Amino acid sequence: MSGKVGEKMVPLGVLLKKEQSGERMERPDVTHGQANQSKKGEDFTMFELDCQRVPGDNVSTFSVFALFDGHNGSAAAIYSKENLLNNVISAIPSDLSREEWIRALPRALVAGFVKTDKDFQEKAHTSGTTVTFVIIDGWYVTVASVGDSRCILESAEGSIYSLTADHRLEVNEEEVERITASGGEVGRLNTGAGAEVGPLRCWPGGLCLSRSIGDLDVGEYIVPVPHVKQVKLSSAGGRLVISSDGVWDALSSEAAIECCRGMPPDAAANQIVKEAVQLKGLRDDTTCIVVDIQPPEKTTPTVPPTKKSGKGMFKMFRRKSCESSSHTDKENFVPDTVEEIFEDGSAILSRRLETEYPICNMFKLFICAVCQVEMKPGEGISVHADSSKPGRVRPWDGPFLCPSCQTKKEAMEGKRPQK
Ligand SMILES: [Zn+2]
Repeated sequence: MSGKVGEKMVPLGVLLKKEQSGERMERPDVTHGQANQSKKGEDFTMFELDCQRVPGDNVSTFSVFALFDGHNGSAAAIYSKENLLNNVISAIPSDLSREEWIRALPRALVAGFVKTDKDFQEKAHTSGTTVTFVIIDGWYVTVASVGDSRCILESAEGSIYSLTADHRLEVNEEEVERITASGGEVGRLNTGAGAEVGPLRCWPGGLCLSRSIGDLDVGEYIVPVPHVKQVKLSSAGGRLVISSDGVWDALSSEAAIECCRGMPPDAAANQIVKEAVQLKGLRDDTTCIVVDIQPPEKTTPTVPPTKKSGKGMFKMFRRKSCESSSHTDKENFVPDTVEEIFEDGSAILSRRLETEYPICNMFKLFICAVCQVEMKPGEGISVHADSSKPGRVRPWDGPFLCPSCQTKKEAMEGKRPQK
């Protein structure tokens, strides 16, 4: 699940060059709808349409759709809804080109999630929240997620893709290993007679998730570092379905897509929530956001009324191999499918903020890469200070963290005793 960006992904520069050469200059229409049936009132949604990438420029806009599913109270969900977008945007330098901006997003999302979690910690609130955070810029979709809400994509070609990772301990062995290594304990509830019941949980606290924003009373190895995936849709567009676990406990991805086929986004979101509640009852907050990304000339849903092939199949991303030189004449060919540009789900901050940044250095020398606070020369601590990979990055290579964010990093890695 944590494929690292590398040669196998489609280079962003190739896609943008193609776009600039006139093939796909048009920006898609983005329409959305949402529905919710509330049990605890801990699900929150956020929509920001036409955010300006360059202040004052109405052409370079992007949209944000987010879902926050809170637990043990709603403070973390509300705090994230109010602060996360600002924290992400302030991690991106203001002087970037569009290509650089899209390329900077995955790292800015990591910094913004960690800053939001850290700031919330200072408010000493209990409670936590899952976050599914979707940024749409033209045909580019970038999704950052912690927890067990999900975002799926149906391309206009009829294939279904998952854009999120599942951070439930029950299904994520890698995360169980990480938490155990950091000093947490993972196990099921014990009825007392040796009979174990329910899903895998992290102890102390009993949380079923390995990542969230908040939950600082539970253990700092419950980290806010998001899984990030960035894709480019074909010019035929597609439909996103973003839902909390209340929907996914009842419906498969295919069932959710099928039950609302051909409906506009508002009706589609309603239908998905209705189907989920009919099947399992209202056992949890059940929230759904549907976003249609369509070619500008079309006004009716583009999602095809019937599926062509591969029904019920989860489609794997097509990855382009740059290593095989025999495909040289295909290098500039961009097929009409969803292209994967970036994916990384690692919980390790130094890897997620690493220096490898071919266009420009988005992390400045005297500004903390996470909280953006200004630092005095010599005050910053390299994220690689304790690197176990000597040779590749040196302990004095940037980006740098302020002492307070360095403490947070060590806590997330289990390097300081739990309070
Ligand atoms: Zn900092």
